[in-house]
Amino acid sequence: MHFTSPVHRPASESRSIFLQVTSGCSHNACKFCRYFRGVAFCESTLEEIEADLKELVNLPRYFPKERLFLQAADAFCLDCDRLLQIAELVHRYLPSVKSIGAYARVDDIASKSIEQLRSLANAGYDNLFIGVETGDDHLLSLMDKGFTSDDILREGTKLNKANLRFTVSIVNGLGGHNYGQYSAIKTARVLNEIKPAFIRPESLTVLPGSPLADDVRNGTFVEATEKERLLELAALVENLTCETVFSATQATLPMRLFGKLPADREYLHGTLLDFAKNANEEELRRHRLDVVAMMLPENALPDPMTPLLSTTKNAKMSPRHNLSWGRDFNPLEP
Ligand code: SF4
Repeated sequence: MHFTSPVHRPASESRSIFLQVTSGCSHNACKFCRYFRGVAFCESTLEEIEADLKELVNLPRYFPKERLFLQAADAFCLDCDRLLQIAELVHRYLPSVKSIGAYARVDDIASKSIEQLRSLANAGYDNLFIGVETGDDHLLSLMDKGFTSDDILREGTKLNKANLRFTVSIVNGLGGHNYGQYSAIKTARVLNEIKPAFIRPESLTVLPGSPLADDVRNGTFVEATEKERLLELAALVENLTCETVFSATQATLPMRLFGKLPADREYLHGTLLDFAKNANEEELRRHRLDVVAMMLPENALPDPMTPLLSTTKNAKMSPRHNLSWGRDFNPLEP
């Protein structure tokens, strides 16, 4: 397999087949992210993709084969024709695959017309995963996301017109101390317009080596307390009026919460407020530092694909797999 880039996937894609079609991230600048730093962005050749699909035909029988998730950071940046060619190859070699997912940046969608998005949906693309992070323009700019809330609104509307479902991730705590309520209200306004199928919140976890970690160290960014983050999530839920699934099940959050909106709003909102009321800041902060440790590659839990990745022939791993993040990193300490 031609894996030359770190493999990342949403928690909900743990049982998907992975196929690398790009390497690295076409943007690679978000302030809080360091997943693909040092990895050159490039597109896989069709020959590489086809060779990998030929290998994937031999996946063990027990491995689920209905969903395939393209790698890497924003595989949907490929142009429409290339994505259609990839879908055709996927269906030819893996006829059991019913849908194809990928991470997509907002500007990856901007480069495609509604007609093109519709043809991609017809070719099997479904439930793209978009890191919207926030609907607050000040934060989008501060974090160097490379798009604005107007861009999110325009591109989300296009996806809906094309009947191409999508999930958004948002980053709870992205605005730091005393900013959560603003971000929650502005984010809810944007999400209510674009109506994602799923909303998956993450909680900001400052990773060593990211530009944001430097800001924390030099005092220009003060992290939100864990209680503030819970109240921010509660404010988000309170202000969401669209029909969607709220899936707060990511490891970066201190609790698991799942429900449909608007039906479960009262339950979700009440649970978050209760949790915030009883929050023990010290305990939750320990959880945050455990999450940092867990996100260090050497501590990562085995992924269902790991045996496959480590045993397939010709695997070429980038040196980025040997990241040297300090185990004792604490962004609050100098
Ligand atoms: S958050 Fe996503 S788009 Fe931003 S640099 Fe990281 S991988 Fe790229």
